[in-house]
Amino acid sequence: MKTASIALTLLLSAAGAFAADAISGERIATREGEVVIHPIEHATFVMTWGGKTLYIDPVGGAARFKDLPPPDLILITDIHGDHMDAATLQGVVRAQTTVVAPPAVAEKLPAQLRERLTVVPNGMALLAMGLEVHAVPMYNLTAERLKFHDKGRGNGYVVVIGGKRFYISGDTEDIPEMRALQDIDVAFVCMNLPYTMTVEQAASAVREFKPAIVYPYHYRGTGGMSDVEKFKALVGSEPAVEVRLLGWYPARD
Ligand code: ZN
Repeated sequence: MKTASIALTLLLSAAGAFAADAISGERIATREGEVVIHPIEHATFVMTWGGKTLYIDPVGGAARFKDLPPPDLILITDIHGDHMDAATLQGVVRAQTTVVAPPAVAEKLPAQLRERLTVVPNGMALLAMGLEVHAVPMYNLTAERLKFHDKGRGNGYVVVIGGKRFYISGDTEDIPEMRALQDIDVAFVCMNLPYTMTVEQAASAVREFKPAIVYPYHYRGTGGMSDVEKFKALVGSEPAVEVRLLGWYPARD
């Protein structure tokens, strides 16, 4: 009885914490109202605005999304388990959902999901749910990391919502295509080893393409978390890039 009530209290407090996060979530003003950013974990997050919902790399089971609206649009970046999971997709996809993914992801998903996909390679853009979605490159540059992300396989994305340009890096190093991005209002940039890049590389790239706001994400590596405070210090205040740190790694039991 006591165990049950403790478990219930934990459940309720977890739910309460989630609700508070959802309400106080990160908000970005756009012409179509505020976009609210809900980090789930690592590479997985949700953005909601004006009754629309976008999931990025939904993995980890459909239960993680039960308190959020179902997706109108899903963007998948790559084939690895922290970005693509057929079971999670099957659990969250609804009749109205558009799923955008690179060809390599399409090849790995079961036929039932594959026929739902809008397949987009690097360099292509499309209109999905009325949004401009640009598939951009993501890949490794450093010799010992080339095995992780082949050039041309995965997609980063630039999505235009209410006139604001959101960049989702996917798993990449500080590639020339990232450094050449223009007019990015909000950037989600990975930084973990050995799979992507160091905080120094990420900060250097960000200082070059100058997003107005940058969220470090995907920063857990084999040696633990990358030092996102150091990333923030390295980006500095000149040029005017605001680094915002969110809780991307919820504590687990
Ligand atoms: Zn990854």
